[in-house]
Amino acid sequence: MADTADTADSTDTTVAARVEIRVDRDSCVGSGACALFEPDFFDQSEEDGLVVPRVREAGPEALPALRTAASRCPARAIVLVPADGPEGACDGQASAGWDRSD
Ligand code: SF4
Repeated sequence: MADTADTADSTDTTVAARVEIRVDRDSCVGSGACALFEPDFFDQSEEDGLVVPRVREAGPEALPALRTAASRCPARAIVLVPADGPEGACDGQASAGWDRSD
């Protein structure tokens, strides 16, 4: 019988089932770091150079990469929240003007 604890990431006790990716385009300065390092999750608009999320949500396996992208963002414009949990629990950044491009 499998032990479910063996399948969890032992380095992270706050992993949500799915994570919602939010970006604050009012804060984004278009540096492109997110799109450069995590192109599966982020792109830049050809019109204004600002971030455009490629996906709205991702599974827990993506959380390390998404956290790295959020930490590299010079504008702190990327926020990760549990898809069905309390806001800010995955990454505690907070800001007004959140936008999520679909
Ligand atoms: S890394 Fe941050 S500031 Fe740079 S494009 Fe992405 S969201 Fe915008």
